[in-house]
Amino acid sequence: MLSTDVVIIGAGPIGLELAVALKDAGVNYLQFDANQIGHTISWYPKQTTFFSSPDRIAICGVPLNTPDQSKATREDYLAYLRGIVEQFDLNVHTYERVNAIKKNAGGFVLHTQHAGQTRQYEAKRIVFAVGDMHRPRRLDIPGEDLPHVSHYFDEAHAFFKQRVLIVGGRNSAVEAAIRCFRAGAKVHLSYRHDAFDGKSVKYWLKPEIEWLIQSGQITFHPNSVPTAINEQAVTLQSTLDGSPSSVEADFVLLLTGYEMDTSLLESLGMELVGDNRAPKVDTTTLQTSVDNVFVVGTAAAGTQQRFKLFIENCHPHVVRVTRALLGDPHFNPPHINPLAFRRLHENPLAAIQGGATGDADEGLEV
Ligand SMILES: Cc1cc2nc3c(=O)[nH]c(=O)nc-3n(C[C@H](O)[C@H](O)[C@H](O)COP(=O)(O)OP(=O)(O)OC[C@H]3O[C@@H](n4cnc5c(N)ncnc54)[C@H](O)[C@@H]3O)c2cc1C
Repeated sequence: MLSTDVVIIGAGPIGLELAVALKDAGVNYLQFDANQIGHTISWYPKQTTFFSSPDRIAICGVPLNTPDQSKATREDYLAYLRGIVEQFDLNVHTYERVNAIKKNAGGFVLHTQHAGQTRQYEAKRIVFAVGDMHRPRRLDIPGEDLPHVSHYFDEAHAFFKQRVLIVGGRNSAVEAAIRCFRAGAKVHLSYRHDAFDGKSVKYWLKPEIEWLIQSGQITFHPNSVPTAINEQAVTLQSTLDGSPSSVEADFVLLLTGYEMDTSLLESLGMELVGDNRAPKVDTTTLQTSVDNVFVVGTAAAGTQQRFKLFIENCHPHVVRVTRALLGDPHFNPPHINPLAFRRLHENPLAAIQGGATGDADEGLEV
């Protein structure tokens, strides 16, 4: 069985930034991703623009340049992440999911699955960099699993000249509604509230969706929730008086958010706190309640009801965990986004650890 000092589970932007820091520090590590690197970004809708500016989501001190100096798209960022892996010659075990972890005398035994094969590795320490968006938040209504219903929006072309009902009122739903409309779909939008929250919708999308609704080009169903879906229509129920209505739809997009799968963390007996079920951590070292198990990136937040952790404020995690793993509180990773040091004094995890779900200071919801 292959043995290593540290295993990093996950190769999203923060897992990759940590891998470079550990490599620079001479730590013996292995890294696994259940999918391709940057998997969470790969399922964003095609051509999605990041709300964060490029300097904030750049990693490992490598500038993220876009052709017109504007915000990066999904495609720009995935190409950038591939470049990071090549530049720093990272060895990521892609398409190798960590399925189970058992404690042993020396640390941990990890059980992985790759191409139908089960493998085992031994590690003294583990860092979870698994993100927090593993599955859609289900509505548990009849018809949710019909073939014309999806929790993911991939691209608008599929909906040309189709009737689409979109459920949700945050970024994902609003962006999908605008893009489907612009691609020639007849769009209905159902939202459980009566208006869009400026903290939940990109500032350049909010005026556009409001205008499209006011001018009757997108049909808005405020204060409504879906209660049943069949092949022809969706039943909506008013959140004000419970009255039902029906909207005919060829396709239904349920864009109501995503949840973290905490089963692997729980299998280790890890303490999860607050409404988010976030791993309880020492906020200086990011060590969890399980000795020698750490967490970095958005996984440290659990399922975010309101987004407090993004790529830009997770760079300091890389510094904290690298220092903890080295036992050197002064180590500064040489290849890292400079925000890691500028934001080291900030502690967005404190509110999450306290279980608070109040408004985010900045950033937006997907
Ligand atoms: C449409 C959309 C737009 C967004 N826009 C922004 C933005 O503008 N700015 C921003 O900062 N954030 C944005 N986000 C959120 C952003 O995607 C996350 O902040 C970011 O991906 C977190 O990085 P991470 O490295 O912590 O985790 P992730 O990128 O989620 O990476 C986790 C990795 O772990 C892997 N993994 C999970 N479980 C296992 C396992 N058991 N074994 C092995 N591997 C595993 C996954 O395959 C994945 O590749 C957006 C999200 C969406 C959906």
